[in-house]
Amino acid sequence: MTIAAKAYAAHASDKPLAPYSFTRRSPGPGDVVIDIHYCGVCHSDLHIARNDLGRTRYPLVPGHEITGVVRAVGDSVSRFRPGDRVGVGCMVDSCRHCSECDAGLEQYCEAMVQTYGSPDAHAEQSGEAITQGGYSSVITVDQDFVLGIPDSLPLDAAAPLLCAGITTWSPLVEWGVGKGDKVAVIGLGGLGHMAVKLAAALGAEVTVISTSDRKKADALAMGASDFLISREREAMARAQGRFDLIINTVSAPTELGAHVNLLARDGTMVMLGLTTEAMPVMALPLLFRRRRIAGSLIGGISETQAMLDFCGQHDIVCDIETITPDQINDAYARMERSDVRYRFVIDMKALAA
Ligand code: NAP
Ligand code: ZN
Repeated sequence: MTIAAKAYAAHASDKPLAPYSFTRRSPGPGDVVIDIHYCGVCHSDLHIARNDLGRTRYPLVPGHEITGVVRAVGDSVSRFRPGDRVGVGCMVDSCRHCSECDAGLEQYCEAMVQTYGSPDAHAEQSGEAITQGGYSSVITVDQDFVLGIPDSLPLDAAAPLLCAGITTWSPLVEWGVGKGDKVAVIGLGGLGHMAVKLAAALGAEVTVISTSDRKKADALAMGASDFLISREREAMARAQGRFDLIINTVSAPTELGAHVNLLARDGTMVMLGLTTEAMPVMALPLLFRRRRIAGSLIGGISETQAMLDFCGQHDIVCDIETITPDQINDAYARMERSDVRYRFVIDMKALAA
């Protein structure tokens, strides 16, 4: 027995997403079946649907910012019950015994299974060669990769926390951001706006660096205290040496040089964008202030739960625009123009009806 799922899928890199029907596996002993209520639209979905990384297999159901309600659980599931409000992020499995898994860093496990686009170990039951994501009505996930959504958070505005939230939270925690630290966020999109809210809640002094002044009022309302426009050379020059940490969320190759100069001594720029082109960097500005450029990939399962609990305690959710599944192609077009305030969230309940 399998579970019927309705979805929207990419069928080729140059075609719009279209309705798609497939099956999910029925729950094994440790599995949780989730009726998906909402799924956020991450820029990574767009990169992968368009085959920007060159390894997409079609048909592909994107979506890794999933919230919903538990429909059924397997016999040995102890942590969840039908009716629970839950979430699923970018991963649905890992090897469970390597040093990365032991350290709670499942995202760096070589056998990590992404929510969509990874070979599906349950292919015989699901009927799909690859894992399929959250632009769908239902999903079956191992309980160890299911998160609890705090009661105070609405399922729609919490959905993007499962990727945009954890991807920005993880470097903020890893680099020990706290009261009075000077943090800059480059790009005010889905990730960027969460970086602003989370860094501000941790007590940092936050500056947004954006391509225009269009989002300035929003940035200040989210908790930023300053706003720089990247093409305004004088303002950028005045900010040289100012920041302890820069969270770079830009989804396209950009000129890194001017931004590296903004780092203080021992400051770090963390690259989050899934860019596939080289970005030249001069060594000298790195040497003279012992600056670093680093990268970071989503976050582990336990730190994702910690981030969700922190958001529950501090009433932090995403700024969302809710769409119906058939509006996904328009949403992608708007995302390409950086015209998102600040995350599209698809109401997946419309598909189940
Ligand atoms: P998004 O909502 O589209 O936001 C990206 C922002 O980058 C835009 O709002 C825009 O900000 C800025 N931007 C876009 N094109 C630009 C350009 N050519 N030059 C300068 N700035 C530009 O995207 P997102 O969902 O936040 O994702 C951002 C990136 O992170 C994507 O590449 C995504 O795939 C990646 N990602 C990585 C991880 C990870 O684990 N590392 C996880 C999730 C997503 P302004 O309008 O303010 O200029
Ligand atoms: Zn994502």
